[in-house]
Amino acid sequence: MEPIKLFQYNTLGALMAGLFGGSMTIGELLTHGDMGIGTLDSIDGELIVLDGKAYQAKGSGDQPEVVEVSDDVTVPYAAVIFHQAEVIFRQRFEMTDHELEKRIESYYDGENLFRSIKIHGEFARMRVRMIPKTTSDKTFAEVATHQPEYTIDNVTGTIVGIWTPEIFHGVSVAGYHLHFISDDHTFGGHVMDYVIKHGQVEVGAVDQLDQRFPVQDRQYLFAKFNSEQVKKDIEKSE
Ligand SMILES: [Zn+2]
Repeated sequence: MEPIKLFQYNTLGALMAGLFGGSMTIGELLTHGDMGIGTLDSIDGELIVLDGKAYQAKGSGDQPEVVEVSDDVTVPYAAVIFHQAEVIFRQRFEMTDHELEKRIESYYDGENLFRSIKIHGEFARMRVRMIPKTTSDKTFAEVATHQPEYTIDNVTGTIVGIWTPEIFHGVSVAGYHLHFISDDHTFGGHVMDYVIKHGQVEVGAVDQLDQRFPVQDRQYLFAKFNSEQVKKDIEKSE
């Protein structure tokens, strides 16, 4: 069997250090996976990849805006996978995100492998945020303290994302990194918390991490990272 590859472009650490410029196109990214998460050039909102299509959720005003992203748009950071469900279960009664996470984790074989996560269902409440577009030399953690947040009640949609083992914190964020998009594509973003009414939960296996580096990005090549600060910032911001 072909190994199931999680493809990650750049690292969350580089993003934390302020490397916000996009350097891989959505067109290329989608050849590596049909489901996933990320952000857009100049950290302009949240990237949601679902069923092979890329969407951008950005916050402005009272409501978030969700638009489909064209192939030529670039990303500074993204993680995508051709998701293959290994465990599928129905959640038949209301649960908080913490309760559902516990249930999901009860199906894991140990805690040292990445997992892909897909949850389609009806949510009593969903709270998301969007990183606001930034081109200045602020750090991600500084920008992240002023993020628009939105809450919606009674919404049907899909959560997509990745669960990362503790030992890979820094490469990615340990634990869940999940993004949401409503079925009608009018609401979405980086998942903060939620209450699910009922839905279908899929947990996918990951055999391999395909970590791509921005080898032509001079800013990345010559950046001086403070790895302890980066790890702290990831904890604070994600
Ligand atoms: Zn996110």
